[in-house]
Amino acid sequence: ILAEVTVAPLPAALGRGATIAVQDRSMAEEAEQMRRDFVANVSHELKTPLTAMTGFIETLRGPARDDARARDRFLDIMEREAGRMNRLISDLLSLSRVQAEERQRPAGRVDLPGLLRGTLAMLGPRIEAAGVVVRTQGLDQPLRLPGDTDQLTQVFQNLIENAVKYGGSGGVLRVSLSRIPHEAVLRGPAWAVTIEDHGDGIEEQHLPRLTERFYRVDGHRARAQGGTGLGLAIVKHIVNRHRGRLRIDSRVGEGSRFTVVLPETAGRG
Ligand code: ADP
Repeated sequence: ILAEVTVAPLPAALGRGATIAVQDRSMAEEAEQMRRDFVANVSHELKTPLTAMTGFIETLRGPARDDARARDRFLDIMEREAGRMNRLISDLLSLSRVQAEERQRPAGRVDLPGLLRGTLAMLGPRIEAAGVVVRTQGLDQPLRLPGDTDQLTQVFQNLIENAVKYGGSGGVLRVSLSRIPHEAVLRGPAWAVTIEDHGDGIEEQHLPRLTERFYRVDGHRARAQGGTGLGLAIVKHIVNRHRGRLRIDSRVGEGSRFTVVLPETAGRG
């Protein structure tokens, strides 16, 4: 089962003026609808924790006023809800930044194996707490690729965090780096980073939609895990900016594999 996520192709040039006008309007309407959906989603996502917090404030003022245990419990919940709003706002800011920069090619170079080792080290405590064992391959070779270190760190942090969140406890997380001598679509040498978990996997019908903003397979579970639903959308825009490709392979009951393919050279355009 495979989903390939690439930039949506523009419609082929149409022959007649009238047809183009109709096409333009429907595309504009579609874009406007997407904007409206996005605003509605953001409002809903922000309102949910806010409503919970407002409710607990009222309870703390009233019935729970003199109950120290209830007060501590409610304060914990309020702290968690505030954390959720904080993550959501950070992810919204990241998303808007990466979308704004998507057309500028990154100017720097990235030590990709070092970046992957660093990201795994940074997430070490969380990986350990989830009882997940990491196996790596190819992370000890010297390699520098064109790219933006902060943004690529964000990509692999999101993918590794997802593998830990949805990979099930006690599982094995594999992170590997390998060279592709000739990548057909990129028309040249490339490097593939794969992040593989042995969690529940994802049903095929969800795969093409996973990188949509706020798309979640199981909303309840994703929210309980602290997810914002924006992680893979951020990943997709950063990978596009790097002229790379994101592949998602998954099999229900076996696990998921996310592959980021990055061109070895800056290339043209
Ligand atoms: P979230 O913040 O909800 O994790 P993401 O954009 O990172 O949002 O992921 C979107 C959805 O894709 C998740 O809610 C989850 O349902 C699914 N998903 C992502 N990674 C995995 C994975 N490794 N295994 C199973 N499901 C995954």
